[in-house]
Amino acid sequence: MRAIVNYGPLDYRLENVPDPIPGPEEVIIKVKASGLCASDLKCYHGGPSFWQGNPPYVKPPVIPGHEFIGEVVALGEGAKEKYGLEIGDKAVAEQILPCWECRFCKTGKYWMCERNYVFGFQGGIDDGGMAEYAKFPKGSIIHKAPKDLPDEYGALIEPLSCAIHAVERGEIQLGDTVVISGMGPIGLMMLQVAKLKNPGLLIALDTRDFRLEIAQKLGADIVINVAKEDAVKRVKDLTDGYGCDVYIEASGYPKSVPQGLDMIRKLGTFVEFGVFAEPATVDWTIIGDRKELNIHGSHLGPYRYPLAIEYLAKNIIRGDLIVTHKLPLESFKDAIKIAEDPNSNSIKILIIP
Ligand SMILES: [Zn+2]
Ligand SMILES: [Zn+2]
Repeated sequence: MRAIVNYGPLDYRLENVPDPIPGPEEVIIKVKASGLCASDLKCYHGGPSFWQGNPPYVKPPVIPGHEFIGEVVALGEGAKEKYGLEIGDKAVAEQILPCWECRFCKTGKYWMCERNYVFGFQGGIDDGGMAEYAKFPKGSIIHKAPKDLPDEYGALIEPLSCAIHAVERGEIQLGDTVVISGMGPIGLMMLQVAKLKNPGLLIALDTRDFRLEIAQKLGADIVINVAKEDAVKRVKDLTDGYGCDVYIEASGYPKSVPQGLDMIRKLGTFVEFGVFAEPATVDWTIIGDRKELNIHGSHLGPYRYPLAIEYLAKNIIRGDLIVTHKLPLESFKDAIKIAEDPNSNSIKILIIP
């Protein structure tokens, strides 16, 4: 089959590789759509958190891609019974491949699995979805999706599960003023999920107007371009000087952290989802002495795939404004260029093998 293979930073090649073969309790899918993630871009450029972590987060050669859906074409022994799958079904696996042996896996907190294998990062174990076929190895968490779910929405199940988890970590109460910083694909899905919580005021922040226009279409009450306007002042003015109740950081830009700590009210909840290329520097005193904040981290989308599938299948969460580009495997490098070009007006780019 044809696949993109990651050999190291800036060295991704389109190659012919052997078709995957299913072992016991394993599933092979024909990949229908595979999303390009901000983490793939950071990995492509050799971001420090990917290549110098301990243990290393990336082990090449590996086929990238962790946001993908496909049609079941082969079932290993016992897989049909274990997952309730038939040939021809649409299926998706959760992005993390838990070890099921560490303290976290054994207590149901599999998304924090100690070995942290995410599809598309550990060569030889968890090859990802940037290929014609993919294998869900033994131990994967596999979900069936409705056959009529469009493939391009199927590739959004993974990021939507992350968005649902992050919004739930915000513990939004009725009438709250909620600010979401960063209107990338996940931010735009967080916005739609937060809307379901019926907040009093839903505010979207970004530096690009076209993203804020989409945020408006998806239900933001107020959008603020932080490159053009003092967002802290504006949010305080909108809340009688108190600040927002909940701030969800989904931009991955270090400046978004002090901005959030400044605009959040006392006793508010700050959710950290973004991944930073550099450390964020803040006055830590704000968290305790000045505001007694709840700081909630958010990682992956545990237990939320079924809900993400339902929301996309029923159009409760719109995917049409999120998927902006679809490219074949051969155009993988163009996909990266488009994703990194601030003038391309891209949100989510899909590879369609
Ligand atoms: Zn991702
Ligand atoms: Zn584990």
